[in-house]
Amino acid sequence: NKPLHIIGGGLAGSEAAWQAAQAGVPVTLHEMRPVRGTDAHKTDGLAELVCSNSFRSDDAQANAVGLLHAEMRLANSLIMACADAHQVPAGGALAVDRDGFSAAVTAKLEAHPLITIQREEVAGLPPEDWEQAIISTGPLTAPSLAEAIAQRTGADALAFFDAIAPIVHFDTIDMNTCWFQSRYDKVGPGGTGKDYINCPMDKAQYEAFVQALLDGGKTEFKEWEGTPYFDGCLPIEIMAERGVETLRHGPMKPMGLTNPHNPTVKAYAVVQLRQDNALGTLYNMVGFQTKLKYAEQVRIFRMIPGLENADFARLGGLHRNTYINSPTLLDSTLQLKGRAGLRFAGQITGCEGYVESAAVGLLTGRFAAAELQGQMVSTPPVTTAFGALLNHITGGHIVSDDEPGKRSFQPMNINFGLFPPVEAPKIEGKRLRGKDKTVAKRHAITARALADCRTWLGLSEQAEAAA
Ligand code: FAD
Repeated sequence: NKPLHIIGGGLAGSEAAWQAAQAGVPVTLHEMRPVRGTDAHKTDGLAELVCSNSFRSDDAQANAVGLLHAEMRLANSLIMACADAHQVPAGGALAVDRDGFSAAVTAKLEAHPLITIQREEVAGLPPEDWEQAIISTGPLTAPSLAEAIAQRTGADALAFFDAIAPIVHFDTIDMNTCWFQSRYDKVGPGGTGKDYINCPMDKAQYEAFVQALLDGGKTEFKEWEGTPYFDGCLPIEIMAERGVETLRHGPMKPMGLTNPHNPTVKAYAVVQLRQDNALGTLYNMVGFQTKLKYAEQVRIFRMIPGLENADFARLGGLHRNTYINSPTLLDSTLQLKGRAGLRFAGQITGCEGYVESAAVGLLTGRFAAAELQGQMVSTPPVTTAFGALLNHITGGHIVSDDEPGKRSFQPMNINFGLFPPVEAPKIEGKRLRGKDKTVAKRHAITARALADCRTWLGLSEQAEAAA
């Protein structure tokens, strides 16, 4: 039997190896540490957590990452089993003893009769005679492989560095203050002339906002993050430093926009948000890449009229990140189009976070194993956390009318905006409002997800209880 080759024994590669081997497929896992290190890893353990030791919320009913934990446990995830076994107290979060966790993952994989671990760097694309391979080399992929991927996938396909603008849940934007309109009502292909959400500011609000950007706490760059800015994606606070008018002539320009709530008064500046997913549940803040600290971003961006109660699906940031433009490059089973049998997993696909990376590894391992065994590859429904994440990676992205060809795909944690919406259940025939409504919707999404995940995995609750 030809083995499945997995390059990179991080969160994704370790989980992929486990899933494939448990399905009966022999696996060769190639991990370059300790032969070659990265700027962030400190040990030679598999599934090393490079920074925080938290897997975030473990609440499967009301939190999207908690739901992903639950689905991974249903799918016999090695990463979740080792995390559960090495848990440390952290309130409602699942945090782990990082050394114990990594040692447990390493020991389980080393002991598996179908897994061979080779400590070596794979310095280019997998050779053609590797029938099935997975690249799961993470955000710090070694340079020679990163270059080979870039060459194979096209010049702009691999982002070596990324500037990320915040993303907001649509249903937390106050549309009594904001309005839909494209600048100069421009209608691009597939557009309507109403493709952006606009948040108006008067002069005093604008000046207070610019001052807050200047005064706000910023994160420091680490040595490995020392990448020059491109002028096209300058952080907003750097633009603000160039002069009080700079933002008003850049991403916050008010031209070509008329506020229907107040048509006679011209806005002094406008913040625009662009639809970020096909479902229309998420909007990104156009041109708002930033290295403000997270808490400062929430405080300062809620000064924007219409965003006073904004809930952020992700906050902005600037950091080195290697990820491919998956929606155009990968098929729905994470396979590189035009190279049968070569799949990607983990953060390099454009998911973000330890848990998400491991979840994508879990899916990829299962897909590759099914293919090697001549079975049909079945993808999880989009109503599950697995499916919502997969859909984020491989489809469902908006390309702006105003900037043809510009990708809107950005790495993202799992969040409720990635799921198809549900109607909030009524209580005694009455519609819920505010927080009660949000909580009820989340419970409905998670209940639907777990039921659909069980069906996808071929599990029944009775069988699980018996097991
Ligand atoms: P990794 O876990 O990085 O695994 C990739 C593996 O591939 C590594 O073991 C590496 O040695 C190996 N490798 C690379 N190139 C080659 C090659 N050519 N041949 C063989 N092996 C190779 N997420 C969070 O949830 N919380 C955090 O606090 C957090 N902090 C982060 C801090 C930093 C500095 C970075 C870079 C990322 C952080 N992330 C965090 C994001 C992300 O979730 C993690 O990076 C996660 O480990 C990604 O999982 P992965 O399996 O895709 O990659």
